[in-house]
Amino acid sequence: QSRSVPDYLSGLNPEQREAVEALDGPVLVLAGAGTGKTRVLTTRIAHILATNRAYPSQILAVTFTNKAAREMKERIGVLVGGAVEGMPWLGTFHSIGVKILRRHAELAGLRSDFTILDTDDVIRLIKQLIQAEGLDDKRWPARQFAGMIDGWKNKGLTPKDIPEGDARAFANGKGRELYAAYQARLRTLNACDFGDLLLHPIAIFRAHPDILKEYHGRFRYILVDEYQDTNTAQYMWLRLLAQRPKDVPQNVCCVGDDDQSIYGWRGAEVDNILRFEKDFLGAKVIKLERNYRSTEHILGAAGHLIAHNEGRLGKTLFTDRVNPDDEKVQVHAAWDSEEEARALGEEIERLQRGDADGKKHALNDMAILVRASFQMREFEDRFVTLGLNYRVIGGPRFYERLEIRDAMAYCRLVCQPADDLAFERIVNTPKRGLGDTTIRNLHDYARARDIPMLAAATDIIETDELKPKARKALFDVIQSFRNWQERLEKTPHVELAEQILEESGYTDMWKNDKSAEAPGRLENLKELIRSMEAFESMRGFLEHVSLVMDAEQNEDLDAVSIMTLHSAKGLEFETVFLPGWEEGLFPHQRSLDEGGRSGLEEERRLAYVGITRAKRRCHIWFVSNRRIHGLWQSTLPSRFLDELPQAHVDVAASDTSYGGYGGGRGGYGQSRFDKAEPFANSYGTPGWKRAQANKTDATRDNWGSRSGHAVERIGYGESGPRGRTIDG
Ligand code: ATP
Ligand code: MG
Repeated sequence: QSRSVPDYLSGLNPEQREAVEALDGPVLVLAGAGTGKTRVLTTRIAHILATNRAYPSQILAVTFTNKAAREMKERIGVLVGGAVEGMPWLGTFHSIGVKILRRHAELAGLRSDFTILDTDDVIRLIKQLIQAEGLDDKRWPARQFAGMIDGWKNKGLTPKDIPEGDARAFANGKGRELYAAYQARLRTLNACDFGDLLLHPIAIFRAHPDILKEYHGRFRYILVDEYQDTNTAQYMWLRLLAQRPKDVPQNVCCVGDDDQSIYGWRGAEVDNILRFEKDFLGAKVIKLERNYRSTEHILGAAGHLIAHNEGRLGKTLFTDRVNPDDEKVQVHAAWDSEEEARALGEEIERLQRGDADGKKHALNDMAILVRASFQMREFEDRFVTLGLNYRVIGGPRFYERLEIRDAMAYCRLVCQPADDLAFERIVNTPKRGLGDTTIRNLHDYARARDIPMLAAATDIIETDELKPKARKALFDVIQSFRNWQERLEKTPHVELAEQILEESGYTDMWKNDKSAEAPGRLENLKELIRSMEAFESMRGFLEHVSLVMDAEQNEDLDAVSIMTLHSAKGLEFETVFLPGWEEGLFPHQRSLDEGGRSGLEEERRLAYVGITRAKRRCHIWFVSNRRIHGLWQSTLPSRFLDELPQAHVDVAASDTSYGGYGGGRGGYGQSRFDKAEPFANSYGTPGWKRAQANKTDATRDNWGSRSGHAVERIGYGESGPRGRTIDG
């Protein structure tokens, strides 16, 4: 019977269509941003279903986030015309992993109702193990070991696999023993951590070929999006499932873009792309070169930038979307981050009103993508002032972050000793050996007498209700709070807040934390302190925060999206704002400190991801000053700005009167494309290389040992930076 081309195929270009229709055998789609990789995957699933090649339950499809999985399912429904009944195996590696593990838990020594521990639980458990070994847990912090275990698990290493050197690096050579003890303990608790969700199934598949065979029969088609960011464990898991016996076709299709590999810091291995062709012989490799997302200028800017990376597989990209009215990528300068937030807010309102092109733009079509989450604070504060709706994607809002809530709980309790919620939150954070029993005791004592818990604590240490250790710990906490309360009226509040975080051991807790999130949390804490500067007192600040927190986050609202570049992967928006393109922030200081190429190249890929999220408009910002601990520090524009092609970029004159970047002799607009002297003239400072070399220890300390800005401190006078003139 003759068949016309189904609707869902007719819109595809020949290469996309080939990728959709090549259903038998391994396929690797390697293509740049916006070329329709995700669309190919979605259409491929629709095609499999529409041609009755498999039931929805026989398709294994991996996306990077749960949200992406939901969206993909909806899209498939649209393509096949009608809701898709069940697709139980469409999800992230973790969500699929947990499902598999529940079915065979007993083979991993667990029961099917096992619990999944979060990071806090994991750290508590490891700390117990370290202490049980008779080791000093100050010298060998549990957080650090938790980070090491996570790293090993990302590489697919069980205790017996870890390299000798690694095992020796922790706890006088007890690393391996501790890791094994940790796994044994998890088993006793009928629990596992995130890494186990893949490692246990891998072990089960290896030890039980019959079970693996069952999955080979079940998963007729395997599809993976964002393949460039898979880590080794994920790859091993995937390979076990996809390498079916010789006579059965290996119907695995992975799509990815090496230029968008941005999770190396979490163990992702871009080399998995190269391994694919080796492990899946005869794999069909399809390249997509036509970009459907962005204008010529946006593509031109992104392509030119990423060409500065050396380790690339190399791809070309073109678009038909060439329109003389298209706006070039706009680069804006602002004096400082406050100014940046103000100007960006104005730009958003301008688009909203339709000033630029007579078209009113929805806030839903706009996104602000930041390099580091601390940057969000300034925008959130500004938008609340303006009454502009926003939503934070892929993470909590700034003031909702764990470390910010903890820090504010300290401040709240100092200002308001009756704040029991704050008390409970921090009395044992960082860990002081005040266990649940002690807290419960306190609670009962306080309730019985109808007094706040802090007051109860003051009373109870006079009694012998507590064990000596807990009593001592509690005594220290109370002393600290007395101390801080006394300082409340005398010490400037910003200073006091800093002292509280230092003296309580809270900052140190994160400094000792070797997890990937810790440096970001430290940055957020600095930003919190910084944000207090705008207020008269700590009380005034706390009041402001409660107002900000009151602003609704409503899914249906028309709202600007704010997120990190990392969580913007795969998404697209009409207008994208990229603030904070300064040396030390972007590329981030950590990547610069690492030395070598790889860290910097990952930053550049992140910049590429950022620019290529934009369909029509891309606005980049940099500020020339960041205020850190009340000290003004001059910052230098990101080297990535220098790497943008003039043909596709407009350097917007600063719409403010500050600074002289808008043009003129030696101004930003003139010198920025001069490779020999990047920005040197416009700032009267040495180029970024010298600035980095000159970076003082004091500067580094301000930002913690693992982060910081590549800046040179300029001795601004009392009058502050606005009193200083910058001449070319
Ligand atoms: P990224 O690398 O950023 O994840 P991608 O390669 O996955 O990008 P998609 O998100 O699938 O790209 O597609 C980008 C945009 O182009 C989407 O809006 C998609 O609907 C559109 N698109 C893709 N292919 C076509 C096509 N053949 N015709 C029209 N639009 C298309
Ligand atoms: Mg995609």
